[in-house]
Amino acid sequence: MFHVEHFADQNQFMARVIAVCNQKGGVGKSTTAVNVGSYLALSGKKTLLIDLDAQGNATTACGIDRKNLEKDIYAVLVNGLPVTEAIRPTQIEMLSVIPASLDLAGAEPYLTNADARETVLKKICEPLRSIYDFLIFDCPPSLGMLTVNALVAADSTLIPVQCEYFALEGLNSLMRAVSLIKQNLNPSLRVGGIVLTMTDFRANLAKEVAEEVKHFFKDMVFDTSIPRNIRLAESPSFGKPICLYDPTSTGAMAYQLLTQEVIQKESTQP
Ligand code: ATP
Ligand code: MG
Repeated sequence: MFHVEHFADQNQFMARVIAVCNQKGGVGKSTTAVNVGSYLALSGKKTLLIDLDAQGNATTACGIDRKNLEKDIYAVLVNGLPVTEAIRPTQIEMLSVIPASLDLAGAEPYLTNADARETVLKKICEPLRSIYDFLIFDCPPSLGMLTVNALVAADSTLIPVQCEYFALEGLNSLMRAVSLIKQNLNPSLRVGGIVLTMTDFRANLAKEVAEEVKHFFKDMVFDTSIPRNIRLAESPSFGKPICLYDPTSTGAMAYQLLTQEVIQKESTQP
Protein backbone atom coordinates (compact mmCIF):
# COMPACT_ATOMS: atom_id res chain seq x y z
CA MET A 1 0.00 0.00 0.00
CA PHE A 2 2.76 2.38 0.97
CA HIS A 3 4.48 1.64 -2.32
CA VAL A 4 1.40 2.47 -4.38
CA GLU A 5 0.92 5.82 -2.66
CA HIS A 6 4.56 6.61 -2.95
CA PHE A 7 4.44 5.90 -6.66
CA ALA A 8 1.33 8.02 -7.15
CA ASP A 9 3.11 10.90 -5.44
CA GLN A 10 6.04 10.63 -7.77
CA ASN A 11 3.78 10.66 -10.80
CA GLN A 12 2.14 13.81 -9.58
CA PHE A 13 5.50 15.57 -9.76
CA MET A 14 6.48 14.36 -13.20
CA ALA A 15 7.88 17.25 -15.18
CA ARG A 16 5.84 19.25 -17.67
CA VAL A 17 7.79 19.52 -20.89
CA ILE A 18 7.25 22.69 -22.90
CA ALA A 19 8.68 23.44 -26.35
CA VAL A 20 9.00 27.17 -27.06
CA CYS A 21 8.75 27.12 -30.82
CA ASN A 22 7.99 29.08 -33.95
CA GLN A 23 9.84 28.51 -37.20
CA LYS A 24 9.81 32.25 -37.80
CA GLY A 25 13.03 33.93 -36.69
CA GLY A 26 13.32 36.67 -34.09
CA VAL A 27 9.82 36.41 -32.61
CA GLY A 28 10.96 36.13 -28.97
CA LYS A 29 11.44 32.37 -28.49
CA SER A 30 14.75 32.57 -26.61
CA THR A 31 13.64 35.58 -24.57
CA THR A 32 10.47 33.71 -23.62
CA ALA A 33 12.24 30.41 -22.85
CA VAL A 34 14.82 32.10 -20.60
CA ASN A 35 12.44 34.39 -18.78
CA VAL A 36 9.55 31.97 -18.31
CA GLY A 37 12.16 29.42 -17.20
CA SER A 38 13.55 31.91 -14.67
CA TYR A 39 10.19 32.85 -13.21
CA LEU A 40 9.18 29.19 -12.99
CA ALA A 41 12.35 28.64 -10.95
CA LEU A 42 11.65 31.68 -8.78
CA SER A 43 8.15 30.30 -8.18
CA GLY A 44 9.77 27.24 -6.61
CA LYS A 45 9.52 25.00 -9.68
CA LYS A 46 12.68 23.05 -10.37
CA THR A 47 13.34 23.92 -14.01
CA LEU A 48 15.74 22.78 -16.73
CA LEU A 49 16.16 24.94 -19.82
CA ILE A 50 17.49 23.02 -22.83
CA ASP A 51 18.99 25.14 -25.60
CA LEU A 52 18.24 23.53 -28.97
CA ASP A 53 19.52 26.38 -31.14
CA ALA A 54 23.11 26.53 -32.45
CA GLN A 55 22.93 30.33 -32.04
CA GLY A 56 22.96 29.60 -28.29
CA ASN A 57 21.02 32.72 -27.35
CA ALA A 58 19.40 31.07 -24.33
CA THR A 59 22.81 29.78 -23.21
CA THR A 60 24.36 33.26 -23.41
CA ALA A 61 21.36 34.85 -21.71
CA CYS A 62 21.92 32.52 -18.74
CA GLY A 63 25.46 33.83 -18.37
CA ILE A 64 27.24 30.78 -19.80
CA ASP A 65 30.33 31.38 -21.92
CA ARG A 66 29.89 29.51 -25.21
CA LYS A 67 33.61 29.24 -25.94
CA ASN A 68 35.10 25.78 -25.36
CA LEU A 69 31.78 24.24 -24.41
CA GLU A 70 32.32 20.52 -24.55
CA LYS A 71 29.46 19.19 -22.49
CA ASP A 72 26.59 20.63 -24.45
CA ILE A 73 23.36 19.36 -25.98
CA TYR A 74 25.23 18.32 -29.14
CA ALA A 75 27.46 15.97 -27.15
CA VAL A 76 24.33 14.50 -25.55
CA LEU A 77 22.41 14.08 -28.82
CA VAL A 78 25.24 12.95 -31.06
CA ASN A 79 28.07 11.56 -28.91
CA GLY A 80 26.00 9.84 -26.25
CA LEU A 81 27.23 11.99 -23.34
CA PRO A 82 25.02 11.16 -20.32
CA VAL A 83 22.49 13.98 -20.13
CA THR A 84 23.11 14.72 -16.45
CA GLU A 85 26.74 15.56 -17.27
CA ALA A 86 25.67 18.44 -19.53
CA ILE A 87 23.49 20.15 -16.93
CA ARG A 88 24.86 23.46 -15.62
CA PRO A 89 23.69 25.56 -12.69
CA THR A 90 22.70 29.20 -13.30
CA GLN A 91 22.59 32.29 -11.10
CA ILE A 92 19.05 31.23 -10.12
CA GLU A 93 19.04 28.38 -7.66
CA MET A 94 16.19 26.33 -9.11
CA LEU A 95 17.14 26.96 -12.77
CA SER A 96 19.62 24.75 -14.62
CA VAL A 97 20.53 24.77 -18.29
CA ILE A 98 21.87 22.42 -20.92
CA PRO A 99 23.82 24.78 -23.17
CA ALA A 100 24.25 24.78 -26.95
CA SER A 101 27.40 25.57 -28.89
CA LEU A 102 27.86 26.18 -32.61
CA ASP A 103 28.47 22.42 -32.94
CA LEU A 104 24.75 21.95 -32.73
CA ALA A 105 24.48 22.98 -36.39
CA GLY A 106 25.86 19.49 -37.10
CA ALA A 107 23.05 17.78 -35.22
CA GLU A 108 20.45 18.30 -37.99
CA PRO A 109 22.24 16.09 -40.55
CA TYR A 110 23.12 13.59 -37.81
CA LEU A 111 19.51 13.29 -36.65
CA THR A 112 18.23 13.05 -40.22
CA ASN A 113 20.21 9.82 -40.64
CA ALA A 114 19.77 8.41 -37.12
CA ASP A 115 17.58 5.41 -36.24
CA ALA A 116 14.27 6.47 -34.69
CA ARG A 117 15.41 9.95 -35.54
CA GLU A 118 12.34 11.76 -34.20
CA THR A 119 12.53 10.27 -30.70
CA VAL A 120 16.21 10.81 -29.79
CA LEU A 121 15.48 13.80 -27.54
CA LYS A 122 12.39 12.21 -26.01
CA LYS A 123 14.45 9.23 -24.83
CA ILE A 124 17.16 11.51 -23.46
CA CYS A 125 14.59 13.53 -21.49
CA GLU A 126 12.69 10.57 -20.03
CA PRO A 127 14.88 10.19 -16.87
CA LEU A 128 14.78 13.97 -16.30
CA ARG A 129 11.01 13.95 -15.88
CA SER A 130 11.23 12.63 -12.34
CA ILE A 131 13.90 15.17 -11.34
CA TYR A 132 12.39 18.44 -12.60
CA ASP A 133 9.02 20.18 -12.45
CA PHE A 134 9.51 21.79 -15.87
CA LEU A 135 11.70 21.15 -18.90
CA ILE A 136 11.76 24.04 -21.37
CA PHE A 137 13.13 23.69 -24.90
CA ASP A 138 14.31 26.78 -26.75
CA CYS A 139 13.79 25.70 -30.38
CA PRO A 140 15.64 27.02 -33.45
CA PRO A 141 13.82 29.07 -36.12
CA SER A 142 13.03 26.14 -38.41
CA LEU A 143 10.84 23.08 -38.56
CA GLY A 144 13.89 20.82 -38.92
CA MET A 145 14.79 17.69 -36.99
CA LEU A 146 15.66 19.53 -33.76
CA THR A 147 12.24 21.17 -33.60
CA VAL A 148 10.55 17.89 -34.56
CA ASN A 149 12.47 16.16 -31.75
CA ALA A 150 11.36 18.88 -29.33
CA LEU A 151 7.71 18.51 -30.37
CA VAL A 152 7.90 14.72 -29.99
CA ALA A 153 9.46 15.04 -26.51
CA ALA A 154 7.09 17.81 -25.32
CA ASP A 155 3.72 17.81 -23.58
CA SER A 156 2.87 21.25 -24.87
CA THR A 157 4.05 24.08 -27.08
CA LEU A 158 4.45 27.69 -26.08
CA ILE A 159 4.37 29.74 -29.26
CA PRO A 160 5.59 33.34 -29.25
CA VAL A 161 4.04 35.42 -32.01
CA GLN A 162 5.36 38.83 -32.85
CA CYS A 163 2.61 41.31 -33.57
CA GLU A 164 3.40 42.08 -37.18
CA TYR A 165 1.89 41.68 -40.60
CA PHE A 166 2.90 38.12 -41.58
CA ALA A 167 2.44 36.64 -38.09
CA LEU A 168 -0.57 34.48 -38.99
CA GLU A 169 0.89 33.05 -42.15
CA GLY A 170 3.70 31.23 -40.34
CA LEU A 171 1.35 30.20 -37.56
CA ASN A 172 -0.84 28.11 -39.81
CA SER A 173 2.05 25.98 -41.03
CA LEU A 174 3.32 25.61 -37.45
CA MET A 175 -0.12 24.43 -36.32
CA ARG A 176 -0.20 21.94 -39.21
CA ALA A 177 3.20 20.58 -38.12
CA VAL A 178 2.04 20.32 -34.50
CA SER A 179 -1.09 18.46 -35.52
CA LEU A 180 0.85 16.05 -37.80
CA ILE A 181 3.24 15.26 -34.96
CA LYS A 182 0.30 14.78 -32.61
CA GLN A 183 -1.33 12.34 -35.07
CA ASN A 184 1.77 10.35 -35.88
CA LEU A 185 4.37 10.63 -33.16
CA ASN A 186 3.14 12.22 -29.94
CA PRO A 187 -0.60 11.88 -29.22
CA SER A 188 -0.31 13.80 -25.94
CA LEU A 189 1.06 16.99 -27.53
CA ARG A 190 -1.04 20.11 -26.88
CA VAL A 191 -0.79 23.70 -27.92
CA GLY A 192 -0.12 25.13 -24.47
CA GLY A 193 -0.62 28.62 -25.69
CA ILE A 194 0.25 31.47 -27.98
CA VAL A 195 1.89 34.54 -26.49
CA LEU A 196 1.94 37.86 -28.31
CA THR A 197 5.40 39.40 -28.06
CA MET A 198 7.02 42.77 -28.66
CA THR A 199 3.61 44.39 -28.60
CA ASP A 200 3.24 48.12 -28.93
CA PHE A 201 -0.46 48.74 -28.80
CA ARG A 202 0.03 52.40 -29.68
CA ALA A 203 0.50 51.10 -33.21
CA ASN A 204 -2.71 50.19 -35.04
CA LEU A 205 -1.07 47.29 -36.83
CA ALA A 206 -0.16 45.61 -33.53
CA LYS A 207 -3.77 45.98 -32.34
CA GLU A 208 -5.11 44.53 -35.58
CA VAL A 209 -2.72 41.59 -35.56
CA ALA A 210 -3.49 40.85 -31.91
CA GLU A 211 -7.23 40.88 -32.66
CA GLU A 212 -6.76 38.61 -35.66
CA VAL A 213 -4.65 36.11 -33.71
CA LYS A 214 -7.24 36.08 -30.90
CA HIS A 215 -10.07 35.69 -33.43
CA PHE A 216 -8.42 32.60 -34.96
CA PHE A 217 -6.93 30.98 -31.90
CA LYS A 218 -9.36 32.15 -29.21
CA ASP A 219 -8.52 30.89 -25.72
CA MET A 220 -5.24 29.41 -26.93
CA VAL A 221 -3.89 32.98 -26.67
CA PHE A 222 -2.53 33.93 -23.25
CA ASP A 223 -4.15 36.96 -21.58
CA THR A 224 -0.70 38.33 -20.88
CA SER A 225 1.19 39.79 -23.82
CA ILE A 226 4.83 40.88 -23.71
CA PRO A 227 5.43 44.56 -24.48
CA ARG A 228 8.39 45.78 -26.46
CA ASN A 229 10.82 46.69 -23.71
CA ILE A 230 14.44 47.71 -24.15
CA ARG A 231 15.46 46.09 -20.85
CA LEU A 232 14.44 42.67 -22.23
CA ALA A 233 16.66 43.26 -25.26
CA GLU A 234 19.60 44.41 -23.13
CA SER A 235 19.61 41.70 -20.48
CA PRO A 236 21.14 38.83 -22.57
CA SER A 237 24.29 40.86 -23.20
CA PHE A 238 24.76 41.01 -19.42
CA GLY A 239 24.25 37.24 -19.17
CA LYS A 240 21.21 37.74 -16.98
CA PRO A 241 17.51 36.88 -17.20
CA ILE A 242 15.28 39.93 -16.76
CA CYS A 243 14.41 38.96 -13.15
CA LEU A 244 18.05 39.63 -12.21
CA TYR A 245 18.76 42.44 -14.67
CA ASP A 246 15.74 44.69 -14.06
CA PRO A 247 13.00 43.01 -12.04
CA THR A 248 10.73 46.08 -11.99
CA SER A 249 10.76 46.70 -15.75
CA THR A 250 7.54 46.28 -17.73
CA GLY A 251 9.14 43.32 -19.52
CA ALA A 252 9.93 41.60 -16.22
CA MET A 253 6.42 42.11 -14.90
CA ALA A 254 4.89 40.76 -18.10
CA TYR A 255 7.02 37.59 -18.05
CA GLN A 256 6.16 37.09 -14.39
CA LEU A 257 2.43 37.26 -15.19
CA LEU A 258 2.83 35.01 -18.23
CA THR A 259 4.62 32.43 -16.08
CA GLN A 260 1.76 32.41 -13.57
CA GLU A 261 -0.63 31.76 -16.46
CA VAL A 262 1.62 28.93 -17.70
CA ILE A 263 1.65 27.34 -14.22
CA GLN A 264 -2.12 27.72 -13.98
CA LYS A 265 -2.71 26.18 -17.44
CA GLU A 266 -0.33 23.29 -16.91
CA SER A 267 -1.77 22.48 -13.49
CA THR A 268 -5.26 22.03 -14.94
CA GLN A 269 -4.00 19.47 -17.48
CA PRO A 270 -4.23 15.75 -16.62
P1 ATP B 1 15.66 33.28 -33.29
O1 ATP B 1 14.56 32.83 -34.19
O2 ATP B 1 16.78 33.96 -33.99
O3 ATP B 1 16.10 32.21 -32.34
P2 ATP B 1 13.96 34.25 -31.21
O4 ATP B 1 12.62 33.90 -31.74
O5 ATP B 1 14.56 33.36 -30.21
O6 ATP B 1 15.00 34.45 -32.40
P3 ATP B 1 14.68 36.40 -29.48
O7 ATP B 1 16.13 36.14 -29.66
O8 ATP B 1 14.07 36.08 -28.17
O9 ATP B 1 13.84 35.72 -30.65
O10 ATP B 1 14.33 37.92 -29.80
C1 ATP B 1 14.78 38.53 -31.00
C2 ATP B 1 15.39 39.88 -30.66
O11 ATP B 1 14.39 40.72 -30.11
C3 ATP B 1 16.50 39.80 -29.61
O12 ATP B 1 17.44 40.79 -29.88
C4 ATP B 1 15.76 40.10 -28.31
O13 ATP B 1 16.62 40.65 -27.34
C5 ATP B 1 14.72 41.09 -28.77
N1 ATP B 1 13.48 41.01 -27.99
C6 ATP B 1 12.77 39.90 -27.69
N2 ATP B 1 11.66 40.21 -27.01
C7 ATP B 1 11.68 41.54 -26.85
C8 ATP B 1 10.78 42.48 -26.23
N3 ATP B 1 9.65 42.10 -25.64
N4 ATP B 1 11.12 43.80 -26.28
C9 ATP B 1 12.24 44.21 -26.89
N5 ATP B 1 13.11 43.40 -27.50
C10 ATP B 1 12.83 42.07 -27.48
MG1 MG C 1 16.22 32.06 -30.35
